[in-house]
Order: sequence, then C-alpha cells, then structure tokens
Amino acid sequence: MIFTPEKCRIPDQRMKPFIDPDELWDILNETKPDKQAVRDVIAKSLEKNRLTLRETAMLINANDPELIEEIKEGARELKKRVYGNRIVLFAPLYIGNKCTNNCKYCGFRASNKEAIRKTLTDQEIVREVEALEDNGQKRLILVYGEHPEYNAEYIADNVRLVYGIKKGPGEIRRVNINAAPLDIDGFRIVKEAGIGTYQIFQETYHPEIYKTYHLGGKKRDFNYRLTSLDRAQEAGLDDVGIGALFGLYDWRYEVMGLIRHTNHLEACYHVGPHTISFPRIQNASMLDLGKDYTVNDEDFARLVAILRLAVPYTGMILTARENPKLRHEVIQFGVSQIDGGTKLELGAYSDSLNQEQDLNREQFQINDDRSLNEVIDELLENDYLPSFCTACYRRGRTGEHFMEFSVPGFIKRFCSPNAMLTLAEYLEDYAPADTKAAGWKVIEKNLNDLREQTDEKNAAELKSRLDRVKAGERDIYF
Ligand code: SAM
Ligand code: SF4
Repeated sequence: MIFTPEKCRIPDQRMKPFIDPDELWDILNETKPDKQAVRDVIAKSLEKNRLTLRETAMLINANDPELIEEIKEGARELKKRVYGNRIVLFAPLYIGNKCTNNCKYCGFRASNKEAIRKTLTDQEIVREVEALEDNGQKRLILVYGEHPEYNAEYIADNVRLVYGIKKGPGEIRRVNINAAPLDIDGFRIVKEAGIGTYQIFQETYHPEIYKTYHLGGKKRDFNYRLTSLDRAQEAGLDDVGIGALFGLYDWRYEVMGLIRHTNHLEACYHVGPHTISFPRIQNASMLDLGKDYTVNDEDFARLVAILRLAVPYTGMILTARENPKLRHEVIQFGVSQIDGGTKLELGAYSDSLNQEQDLNREQFQINDDRSLNEVIDELLENDYLPSFCTACYRRGRTGEHFMEFSVPGFIKRFCSPNAMLTLAEYLEDYAPADTKAAGWKVIEKNLNDLREQTDEKNAAELKSRLDRVKAGERDIYF
C-alpha cells in the first residue's frame, strides 16, 4: 500500500528540500483536537493506515490525560497487531570519532579539545567484532564522526572486513551504518559492500534552529543533510533510516518533521524509511546547549506512541541512551529494535585499548549499560521474543518491492519463525543455563501460538528447523 500524502506547500520533488517550518507550525496551530476526532484517528491507525500530517497534529495536540492514555493504548495494540512480540537486537560499534563539524550537543565536535581522538585500526576492529560475536551479536551499526578519512571507500572496506570476521559460531550478518551524508556515488559504493540500513538523523527539522546548533563544517548545510537520503535512493540504496535528536527544539514540531520526511520519501520513491530513531540529548563532554527544550519522560513516551500510530509499518529504534526502566516502559508503545550490551568508547568491547572510562572518549553518556544477556533476560521475562533476524535484506526483500507489513501473513510466515530460529541459535551458543531454559520456554509458547494461527504444515516445518538448530546447524531462515 503506497501512501498518498496531502498537498504540501513545498511539493515533493526528488532531491529537493521539502521542509517548510511555517507549514508545519500552521498545521499544529490550526488543528484542534476533540475527543471523537482523536478516537477516529486512533481507529484509522489501528487499521494499519498511515496518518496524514493533520491527523498526526491531532494526536500531538491531544493534551487531555484521558486521550493521552487512549493514544498510548492504541500504540500498544497496534504494535501487537503489526509486530507481535518480537524485538530485534543490535549493537553499535564506534569506528572513529574524528570530526570536522561543530555540533553543540556532541562530544566529538571539532572544537572539543578535551576529546580523545581515535580511529580503530583493522586489527582493533577485528578484536572488537570478535568480542561482539562472543556475546552473541549478529547485527551491528558502525558509527563514525564526519571526517575526510571516513569516506565511502573507507566505510565500504570496514563493512567487508566486518562481514569476514568469524569467531567460533559467531558472525555478523547485517551491518548498518550511521555516518555523514554521502554523494550519490558514495552511497553506491557502500551499497555494493552489502550494508543494511544507512541512517542519517536530521537532528532538528527547523532550518533556523538547526543553524544555531551546527556551527561549522559540512553539517552546517541543512538542505544537504535533508536531501541526503534522496541521494541514497538515487544510488539504489532503498533501505534508509531517519531520526530527530529530541531536546534541540519543540518535540511536537520534530514529530511533524519526521512524518513530513516520511511522506517525502514515499511520494518520491514509493518507499518510506525503514526505521525512525528518536534519540534524546544525553550528557556529553563539554555539552553546550542554549534554550531548554528537554523532553521529559512522559512526553517522550507520548511522542513514541504518536509516531507508532502515525507510521504503523515503520521500524522504530530505542537506544541505550535511555535507562532500563524507561526502555521497559516505552518498548510497549511501538519500539521494534533496541541495542543490548552497548559500549560507546572506542575499543571498549574487547577492552584491548586498556582505557579508563572517560566521558572524553564517548560521544555522549548512555544510561543502560546492561550486558546483551541481561537485556535478553528482561525481554524473555516479559514475554517478548528477542530476534537477531537478518533474513529480509539477505533475501533481497527491501524497498519498494517489499514492505513486510503490507504483505498479509508475512509476520507469521517469516518474521516470527526467523525470530525463533535466531533466538534458538543464541540460546544454544551463548546463553547461560537459566536464560537458555527461559528462552526455550518462550520459543515453545510462540511455536504453539503459531500452530493455532497458521496451518500445521508451517508450524511443523519450523519445529523441524528448530530441531536442526539444536543439533548444531546454523543460519537457517525463511
Ligand atoms: N557524525 C555522523 C552524523 O552526525 O550524522 C554520525 C552520527 S553521530 C556519531 C550519531 C547521532 O548521535 C547523531 O546523529 C545525533 O543525533 C546523536 N547524538 C549526538 N550527540 C548526542 C548527545 N549528546 N546525546 C544523544 N545523542 C546524541
Ligand atoms: Fe561530528 Fe556527528 Fe558529533 Fe556532529 S554529531 S560533532 S557530525 S560526530
């Protein structure tokens, strides 16, 4: 199903900027929520329809506590209907923190002379990836500052290196990227290296406000960044992730910006972003922010629920920036991917650089430093199905030709079985005994649910594949 956006003041054209802040504010200011209208919007979303900007504004403006609860309940229900109980797990791997930009919120910015600069050598990358594989990770996101050294060829070399590192039963099956915007040729080069998603966060969708935070370097150009994922699409890289850094400007406006960006990609390329991220500002070395736009926990949960309802079939990522309690609370409103066992200091996974923990080595501080296994334990306790699935992109199911949630029965045929198969691998290869027991119980329960929801043949095929995993076979997927 392709979404047809409402007419926007700036028409959607490929490679052309599409944000008009007055338009987004006008819609926000003009939309008056009444109870019935808000309920109608929630009902529309529960039918898995994308919401328009006006409908999104209706949810944003619903300040009545009763309606806020209904929005959250709607998001909880939609997540169940669309995603079931799967949560995909990944880890970030910081490759280098050299940076020529000056983003006022970031510890890596060029003017921060306290920052200890480091780019991992190939040998250090191998050690880091081996340590991540020893923990059971299968999906990584490589993260970089913006620096001429970290060009497309360099990133592509890193990606190929990472895919080639195999330790014991370990391997990385999907490498995503969070790095500076590239030109079209650059995106082609990283696509050829076999990346999954290329994430670029706009940080704030307000062009004037943007200038006040981005004081120097290439990132100062709002429109070059805004159109970066258009260039990715032109290069044939159709798996992209967007995001806004919450705390830079009014959260209501940023939610509208994210939906406007989604509309633009859908209108021009017939495929929306694969994922939306909503990082909140965390403490960083020499953090230097002006006016306070801090998003409190209640508003944060609310904005996650609103995003879930606005884009029912887009993946949503919640990171270890948030503390375990808040992550537990917010996951239920529509998050589909989280990181586990996260470390941001360069070289920290293998501890091979023998460093003291120091904010000057990190981009910002994280608030969830649990191990991957601790995160998995909590998910299992709460009946979630942790997943390391990487099947779709390896089977070429990406972009316009494939939207997992628009294909009826897709989740039951592919996503849930693959989640179980990859969890089974983790349990067999890496989990301590109590996690293993709890995990197999969750798999049994999900297998039984699947048996009731689909035909017996599907469930029997999955059962036999799970037995093959138990017997030592690896990387089996639908
Ligand atoms: N240097 C590239 C860039 O700016 O696009 C790569 C991404 S940067 C290493 C990853 C993201 O971290 C940024 O896009 C920003 O949203 C987020 N970030 C930066 N400083 C942060 C802070 N103090 N707290 C939370 N997130 C932050
Ligand atoms: Fe550099 Fe990215 Fe940090 Fe900005 S957010 S200073 S571009 S690493």
